[in-house]
Amino acid sequence: MRYGFHGLSYQAIAERLPAVLGPLAQGRVIVAHLGNGSSLCALAAGKSVATTMGFTALDGLVMGTRSGAIDPGVVLYLLEQKGYSPRQVGDLLYKESGLLGVSGVSNDMRSLLASAEPAAAEAVDLFVHRILREVGSLMMALGGLDAIVFTAGIGENAAPIRARVMAGLEFLGARLDPAANGGHGPRITRADSAIAGFVVPTDEEGVITRETLGLLP
Ligand code: AMP
Repeated sequence: MRYGFHGLSYQAIAERLPAVLGPLAQGRVIVAHLGNGSSLCALAAGKSVATTMGFTALDGLVMGTRSGAIDPGVVLYLLEQKGYSPRQVGDLLYKESGLLGVSGVSNDMRSLLASAEPAAAEAVDLFVHRILREVGSLMMALGGLDAIVFTAGIGENAAPIRARVMAGLEFLGARLDPAANGGHGPRITRADSAIAGFVVPTDEEGVITRETLGLLP
């Protein structure tokens, strides 16, 4: 059983896909929820088939303060060799790792992009590197990729991060439209791009509201 997380966000995006993506919504789509918590979800014809988070929200991408996927041997090493308590390991992985741990500067992408510290740039590099590696994994689960959708705080607002992710997909025929990306889309790729890129604002609160109203008599 793989739980996955950010379900409210992915539901909000899946509901908006036909209006924004047109026929591509029926294709192979990766949604990148990039915020303080970050994950990717692979949608085949609007239905989730794979996601980067698992039993907990620790798995997958590097996040603001969460490590994302690491070798489980690291946990054993900390417990057995370094004398960490389970609570200390939990605090390290949930609250002191990720962008904050690598940069030593901040968990906030805006601050990292504005910082001149080499460690801040290293954290941003790692963030993008992990996204691209996980995009590769989800692409294989989908059997290809027609579109990538960026959402949440970083996905909706950080044009440089979107540009770097799309640059990593250039060898597959992705072609960014820099002006459209700077204007936050909704479409951020050129017409001849083999993989279409979009920015779609998420609406987790709207999903909660509609689901709750649906339960009321
Ligand atoms: P969220 O958890 O969805 O609210 O996203 C929070 C993250 O979005 C933080 O890392 C913010 O620094 C980042 N963010 C918000 N606006 C911007 C921006 N204009 N440029 C870069 N990052 C941003």
